[in-house]
Amino acid sequence: MRLEAKIEVDAVVIGGGIAGLQTALDLAEQDYLVVVVEKDASVGGKMIRLSKVFPTLDCASCITTPKMAAAAHHENISILTYGDLKSLDRSSDGRLEAVVEKKPRFVDEAKCIGCRQCEYDCPILVADENQGGFSARKAIHIPFSNAIPQVATLDVDHCILCGRCEKVCPTQAVDYFQQPQTIRIHAAAAVIATGFQMTSLHDKPQYGSGEITNVIDALQMERLLAPHGPYNRVLRPSDGMEPDSIAFVQCAGSRDRSMGVPYCSRVCCMYAIKQAMLLSGALPLADITIYYMDIRAFGKNYEQFFQNAQAMGIQFVKAKVASLAAAENGAVEVCYEDQVNGGVTRTSHDLVVLSLGKIAAWNPFGTCPVEVAEDGFIRSVSPRLAATLTSMEGVFAAGAAAGPKDIVDAIAEAGAAAMKAASYLSACHRPKQARSGVSINVKPQPSRAVAMG
Ligand SMILES: Cc1cc2nc3c(=O)[nH]c(=O)nc-3n(C[C@H](O)[C@H](O)[C@H](O)COP(=O)(O)OP(=O)(O)OC[C@H]3O[C@@H](n4cnc5c(N)ncnc54)[C@H](O)[C@@H]3O)c2cc1C
Repeated sequence: MRLEAKIEVDAVVIGGGIAGLQTALDLAEQDYLVVVVEKDASVGGKMIRLSKVFPTLDCASCITTPKMAAAAHHENISILTYGDLKSLDRSSDGRLEAVVEKKPRFVDEAKCIGCRQCEYDCPILVADENQGGFSARKAIHIPFSNAIPQVATLDVDHCILCGRCEKVCPTQAVDYFQQPQTIRIHAAAAVIATGFQMTSLHDKPQYGSGEITNVIDALQMERLLAPHGPYNRVLRPSDGMEPDSIAFVQCAGSRDRSMGVPYCSRVCCMYAIKQAMLLSGALPLADITIYYMDIRAFGKNYEQFFQNAQAMGIQFVKAKVASLAAAENGAVEVCYEDQVNGGVTRTSHDLVVLSLGKIAAWNPFGTCPVEVAEDGFIRSVSPRLAATLTSMEGVFAAGAAAGPKDIVDAIAEAGAAAMKAASYLSACHRPKQARSGVSINVKPQPSRAVAMG
């Protein structure tokens, strides 16, 4: 037996990052019923995992958490987490159909009260991907303290089926036999807000292919700097030493044809400057160097932010880093071509942070007939006049799904996508059901329903 559910809404938003949440809120405020489909166990996207945000240095979690909660508590929004989008296409009745496979958490979402007893009793420790892999989590866990929903997820790859979580759960929510559930979402409009992912550390042999312990990526540095980070201070991973000298390598995956990423990832200059400033606060005696090709401080107050960083004593070296190598005592040797004075220089740092490239997080090929551009991001059919319009009628794009961008632009674009979707919806039939909440009708189906998914 496999569970099937059907949802009728006005709009489906794919991706529960800041852009998807903002789109959903803007649509819901106009009285449209929205469902947000998120593949992770919690909404929040990259932003909830950041430390502070440029150029204001506001706490990222303090801005994102209220948005997550507002969406979760809105009567017109339903959030479907841990869902794999299997297809998004127009069905024979002219409406859009998104088929989502809800992965089993092995915990009943309706019964779990988020008390974490299962997590405390679980004996298995696994590297915590939400803390950059620097600290450990349990095999059954809530992803992070302000995750939404506050529901535990059992990681079957590491569970030893000892049964402790099931025994301590006060609401009998643990269900080792939970099955995937196919959910069919019928909507008049869809917004794709699937965001970006980073290029892999392993794709750059010149920079150690991810094998040099003290070479980390920028999202890992965000966690080291975060108030609820893995160590509550900045320590380098190999030996827990406070680094005295830290380097940032810019364009470590963008503007690089060998990586298949010839474009600029747009936010790396600014977040490297931000991280350098936060580091100089956390480690006032440390030397901080940013190796860059050009500094692209494109947004409002960004140039001032860059100048403030220079005034704080952060070193900016115009250079292309050729290679990184492990050196003595955990140091990393940086070999670069100096673009101002010429010549090749070798120097070493205690910790190196790579500004990797940004690529699309979702490839619609085989899932959805929406067109993508040469860079792999969703193609806008009118980039100058209506950036959120895609090649599919009734399907819009928001945030980094349409190309790398900062939070300000992602949120502005989310508002624009919601406006376009709302005016499209106002020209369409709205669902016949009552306007209070989304109805999810779950009924067991014979197993042949799997073939339809
Ligand atoms: C290291 C770093 C630091 C940064 N610092 C700043 C900063 O200080 N200030 C600033 O303005 N910007 C910053 N940025 C940029 C910022 O992260 C982005 O602007 C923002 O996250 C874009 O939001 P989004 O919702 O479009 O995408 P994302 O945050 O990527 O969210 C997309 C969501 O969609 C989900 N998803 C993906 N595919 C699917 C699918 N098939 N089905 C369902 N769900 C899916 C993902 O799980 C994710 O939750 C930084 C970026 C990095 C990498």
